[in-house]
Amino acid sequence: MSGVIVTGAASGIGRACAEELVAAGRKVALWDLAEGVLEVAAGLGMPGTVVDVSGDLAGPVADAAAALDGLDGLVHAAGRVAVEPVGSFTADSWDAVVDVNLRAHALLVQEMLPYLREAANASVVGIASIEGIAANPWIPAYCASKAGMLGLTRSMAAQLGPEGIRVNAVCPGFIVTPMIAPALEVDEIRTGYEQAAPLGRMGQPAEVATVVAFLLSDKASFVTGTEIIVDGGLICQH
Ligand code: NAD
Repeated sequence: MSGVIVTGAASGIGRACAEELVAAGRKVALWDLAEGVLEVAAGLGMPGTVVDVSGDLAGPVADAAAALDGLDGLVHAAGRVAVEPVGSFTADSWDAVVDVNLRAHALLVQEMLPYLREAANASVVGIASIEGIAANPWIPAYCASKAGMLGLTRSMAAQLGPEGIRVNAVCPGFIVTPMIAPALEVDEIRTGYEQAAPLGRMGQPAEVATVVAFLLSDKASFVTGTEIIVDGGLICQH
């Protein structure tokens, strides 16, 4: 069996996805900008690589394919957010968010395509967000990148379905990870996040990872071109 590239695997949701997939018997190449990915990968007995996904991906994809005997999946969880409402971002700061969250997903799938075409159950999962569906006035580049990922998911699913390659997205709500840790230090924000969902709490990275692992498995063999919302019911109220 070939393997899955997980980006953003040093931390949070990406790390949980790598752990869940390895527990399910899958081979995983763990990528992240942060050097901590090497330790996480070593702990799982899988290859880890320090990669900036906004850079050139040809070499890292070829290396991952060689290490895992081919590639049958991708989880693009690397992401960044900038609190820069309209009036405060620059062209460079806008690109810094969109390049990682959205452009890298398209370029990665493109680079992986020869391997995905060879695979028996090829599956691509992008970690989008409920903020790609509902408005957040503080983070327009982030919202645009995540909404863009949903459009990209549908486009790639339509193109690649005839080749047996499935493409889906997962939209987490508020999940306890380092990305939102600064906001959680403010009591009113943390309480607001907890109370926003009908389930009355934030989610854990592992609760996203189980859904991602399902989409990557052959149990999801007729699921493509869609998103699964994992938000404790938050968005259903909007
Ligand atoms: P996190 O900060 O714990 O993890 C993100 C990881 O991406 C980090 O390890 C970081 O080093 C890595 N990364 C950032 N830029 C990179 C780059 N250029 N190249 C390679 N790696 C890079 O945050 P998280 O919450 O686990 O986020 C994972 C994904 O889930 C993101 O796409 C995020 O937008 C999405 N998401 C998170 C939440 C939440 O509430 N935490 C909600 C919805 C969506």
